Amino acid sequence: MNDIAANVKIVQQRIQAAEKKFSKLAETITLLAVSKKQSVEKIKGAAAAGLHAFGENYVQEALPKIEALPHLEWHFIGAIQSNKCVPIAEHFSWVHALSSATIAQRLNKARPIDSPPLNVCIQVNLEGSSNKAGIAPNEVLALAQFVMTLPKLRLRGLMTLPEPSTDFEAQRQPFRQLARLLLDLQQAGLSVDTLSMGMSQDCEAAIAEGATIVRIGTAIFGERV
Ligand SMILES: *Cc1c(COP(=O)(O)O)cnc(C)c1O
Repeated sequence: MNDIAANVKIVQQRIQAAEKKFSKLAETITLLAVSKKQSVEKIKGAAAAGLHAFGENYVQEALPKIEALPHLEWHFIGAIQSNKCVPIAEHFSWVHALSSATIAQRLNKARPIDSPPLNVCIQVNLEGSSNKAGIAPNEVLALAQFVMTLPKLRLRGLMTLPEPSTDFEAQRQPFRQLARLLLDLQQAGLSVDTLSMGMSQDCEAAIAEGATIVRIGTAIFGERV
């Protein structure tokens, strides 16, 4: 087995062990392979090992990869600049880091009429988030309700990117907050199902709090060069 196939297996086993430990339904978590700064060859290796969903942070870097591997499912997980809404809406199936109504409107306008709606997560800037990206928790409902009015977008849920921590209980805190915010949306009548949270270092804590998509780069591909 090559390195990437072995790494994919290890990550899948980590996910399964966490599902079991925290009494989550088996095989309900999507492993999103974060392939920023990784080559097409490595992505092919991960696909051959059974992965289907790939996450990219930079449009310019992602487009040739998507062109080379169009059968894979591509998720845009980086910050969405307004001048990149057209290529993002044209080439990706998901965006994870929506944080404004203006960007939502642009993505909706740019989504091709013959493509299915773009799946959208709203990025939330919880206390201790690693940067200022994302919106405040008290702004989530209004943006979510706005996205629901846009026909070419499909609101799926929430995403967060916390400050790295090595303490398991500390890792769980922001994920628990995000899960509560998703519940608030559901209780407000929105049909949302996705918590995009957890990376190589903290995916077990995210799974403990109900992650449905974990975004894993380093643990699959090794350090980014
Ligand atoms: C790079 C990145 C990841 C993956 O991080 P790893 O620590 O390599 O697993 C996940 N989510 C986002 C938004 C990223 O930018």
